[in-house]
Amino acid sequence: MLGVSVRAGILVTGTELLTGSVSDRNGPWLSERLGEIGVEVAAILLVGDRPSDLEAALGFMRDEGFDVVVTSGGLGPTADDMTAEVVGNFAGRPLALDEEMEQKIHNILKEFAKRLRFDPEALRDANRKQAMIPEGATAIDPAGTAPGLVVPAGEQVIVVLPGPPGELQAMWPLAIETPAARGVLDRAEPLETSSMRLFGLPESEIAQSLREIEQDADLSGLEITTCLRGGELVVDVRSRAGSEDALEALWAGLRERHDRFLYSEAGEMIDEVIAGLLDGRTIAVAESCTGGLLAKRLTDRAGASEYFSGGVVAYSNEAKTALLGVPEELIAEHGAVSPEVAEAMADGALERFGADVACSVTGVAGPDGGTEDKPVGYVCFCVKLAGGEKLARDPALPGNRADVRERSTMVALHLIRYLLQGREPPR
Ligand code: ATP
Repeated sequence: MLGVSVRAGILVTGTELLTGSVSDRNGPWLSERLGEIGVEVAAILLVGDRPSDLEAALGFMRDEGFDVVVTSGGLGPTADDMTAEVVGNFAGRPLALDEEMEQKIHNILKEFAKRLRFDPEALRDANRKQAMIPEGATAIDPAGTAPGLVVPAGEQVIVVLPGPPGELQAMWPLAIETPAARGVLDRAEPLETSSMRLFGLPESEIAQSLREIEQDADLSGLEITTCLRGGELVVDVRSRAGSEDALEALWAGLRERHDRFLYSEAGEMIDEVIAGLLDGRTIAVAESCTGGLLAKRLTDRAGASEYFSGGVVAYSNEAKTALLGVPEELIAEHGAVSPEVAEAMADGALERFGADVACSVTGVAGPDGGTEDKPVGYVCFCVKLAGGEKLARDPALPGNRADVRERSTMVALHLIRYLLQGREPPR
């Protein structure tokens, strides 16, 4: 763990988030922004709209000595929006009407009212509440109708932002530029971040490698986290100025041990790597068990139309024959999940889309449909170039239906990469 100069807590409020009907997008977003400016986020707490729960969470964050607390939500005009009042009381700063802010909100609402044909005066009353600002706090102009607040609270500073993610994100840069926030945030030392992405390597091997590298190099200036998802292993490192040698030793050690598994050192995701490798060529897909997930991943990036020709989800045997020209007899002889049918699907995609590269996936996602020969998780892949060069695999992938589909998508993407790189995937 790095020596920490500034620590923060994020307090997300909203009963709809607590019940799970809306997923929190503000906690992770704020955490990334704080991390970028060198602030360590020590906790993200999520509470409902009850004032006592908010107070308890603020109390915890004060007792833990967090330098900064950022809250999200509860700044609306209705009675259950209590954050400004609770934070004001907590900081010992009673609320007072800020007339200038009231006018600003009124002007914003006048526009809404005109469009929606509401009575602006009735709205004004409902929204006077939003112009109540704790004494000594700095108000941040609204991106919607609710102003944000930066509230000094003893040793701490509490940044209060509205819940709608678009509003919170628009107001964040203004909030951190206020003198009260700067007073604390300027003590933070920005961190350099870098990452390495590997595919197919078990997490335990990385742990072993890190232990070995640490025997020869002092890595204490680095904060290393590893995360495994769908077969991809991401090693993220945060470091402060002066740790360049340690960082170089770490990357050199990992490169030396795991070169075969390494596919990105500049933080690029697999679809970006593929886009680069295609280099003007086009790709098409023929999917069965992944149901379009591969096409989705290949079209996530803006600009995918430059290289993605199209895809077919050919789930039934009839669709494989009609849409991809897979011979009926081939399916009858080998089964729809077979290396032979996978190759015929790739051929069909190459031909029907006139593409330079095609990738096919056909497998048993489960939970039913497995046999002794072809159990749940058995998936056949074929990546083929228009010139005939190909890479085919038929592994048995672990996990439930969702896992098998996600892993199949990942395996397909990496097989595409291996073929385009002219490399042989590790067994
Ligand atoms: P408003 O002025 O809109 O009432 P507010 O600060 O009171 O702003 P909330 O009422 O807490 O915000 O939330 C408004 C809506 O914004 C929620 O219904 C939800 O859709 C969205 N929202 C709030 N918090 C989050 C969050 N943490 N993550 C994702 N969406 C959120």
